[in-house]
Amino acid sequence: MIIKNYINGSFLEPTLGNYIDNYNPSIGEIYGQIPNSTQEDVAQAYQAAKATFPSWSNTTLEERSAILSKIAQLITKKLEVLAEAETKDNGKPLSLAKTIDIPRASANFQFFANAITQFSSEAHETVGVNAMNFTLRHPIGVVGCISPWNLPLYLFTWKIAPAIAAGNCVVAKPSEVTPMTAYLLGEICNEAGLPKGVLNIVHGLGNTTGQAIVEHPNIKAISFTGGTKTGAHIARTAAPMFKKLSLELGGKNPNIIFADCDYELMLETTVKSSFANQGQICLCGSRIFIEKTIYEQFKKDFIQKVSQLKVGNPFDADTNIGALVSKSHLEKVKSYIDITEEEGGTILFGGKKVTVEGSEEGYYLEPTIIEVQNNSCKLNQEEIFGPVVTIMPFETEEEAIALANDVSYGLSATLWTNNLNRTMKMTKQIHAGIIWVNTWLLRDLRTPFGGVKASGVGREGGFEALRFFTEPKNVCIKY
Ligand code: NDP
Repeated sequence: MIIKNYINGSFLEPTLGNYIDNYNPSIGEIYGQIPNSTQEDVAQAYQAAKATFPSWSNTTLEERSAILSKIAQLITKKLEVLAEAETKDNGKPLSLAKTIDIPRASANFQFFANAITQFSSEAHETVGVNAMNFTLRHPIGVVGCISPWNLPLYLFTWKIAPAIAAGNCVVAKPSEVTPMTAYLLGEICNEAGLPKGVLNIVHGLGNTTGQAIVEHPNIKAISFTGGTKTGAHIARTAAPMFKKLSLELGGKNPNIIFADCDYELMLETTVKSSFANQGQICLCGSRIFIEKTIYEQFKKDFIQKVSQLKVGNPFDADTNIGALVSKSHLEKVKSYIDITEEEGGTILFGGKKVTVEGSEEGYYLEPTIIEVQNNSCKLNQEEIFGPVVTIMPFETEEEAIALANDVSYGLSATLWTNNLNRTMKMTKQIHAGIIWVNTWLLRDLRTPFGGVKASGVGREGGFEALRFFTEPKNVCIKY
């Protein structure tokens, strides 16, 4: 399977004709090739976007909304094909791709198809001087969207949908590791009647193709989701060019469990928040802190539940944990497990690579639980982004808050308690962009999404995304 760039509504070869191998992580084999795009390809994509911007930004909201709805419907119609493509590319269980990734990609388009019809700006009367202010919100022009490999179509569309809903034209790059569903999205956009040039998808490596998007002098805003180090590099490039930036970066999220919680619900949800998508979700609760009075009980029950998870080929219906996304990522995750002892930890469960029958070359790893002695160890401070969690006990609310905040990241936190006063106190004091209480990953697309500290800058979601993808202009009329 050879993927091509989607530029101006057509599928084009990269100008230099170079390609990169694409792997199926569940069997560890190359199954396709993707363009190794250069600055020239990005420039071509930009030209297409630029040429379309005047007409697209002047389409009525009803027209835009109808096209976005159509894209949403087509994604739902092609759910099976898209889910299979996602699983093949990423290694995630097909059951997950079918129930989470692809439905959410459709929901992203449907949500912004509706949201754009409700988006409005403000007016301010300057009382006493006969002046009236109102705010115009213009689309920015050509914007860049760059997304990671863990939730490929889900996160790609989370950026593209609000960008085009707001009237921008887009140059987008999916992760080179998981390009397939982005490629299929191009076909869907054509079928839905999205005018050519509104969305342009350029495939390739981060440090060449991605860098060319970020460096392009006329791509005025960059919406990026990915690692913190890459985010910092992008900010260094884009800031002196005064580009608008939205950075959704890494996480090392605390999962704080009090004895007064609904224990069974907590246990079941904690298995998911630890290992869903092989732990490769920026919102996974990878540092689990448990109130001392229930620590030993939790340890026993958690190990027992996790031992029931089946690691297997992601296409098997009973697989809970599929393959990690790539060989190099598997090695990176394993390297953290390997330093457990020197970091003062103990592996309570898992820790080893798994050989799956019939898929012996795939990148599989056991779900891994590590008991740590303190929060300052590398296992608790660095983002591992795999099926690895640490556990440790705490005694007081103050201690739990201090542990939660003692990390450079601040994306999300989960809190398990039925005490209202404690909930209010702790949600105010924990440094994170999102806090779930007695649940995890329950998303309402209207809410602001993003992190603090090294987890990023800016917010996506709801009107926040539409604000990011528009430029406000104040008009003051004296009468
Ligand atoms: P990376 O930062 O490696 O890559 C993200 C994207 O940026 C990819 O498309 C990548 O391309 C591209 N890229 C890499 N270098 C550059 C560059 N110099 N200029 C422009 N683009 C570049 O992240 P991963 O793909 O490894 O994703 C995992 C990370 O994403 C984790 O840290 C995770 O926490 C974070 N993440 C954050 C989320 C959030 O909402 N806060 C949600 C999901 C993930 P290529 O793949 O080709 O290198």
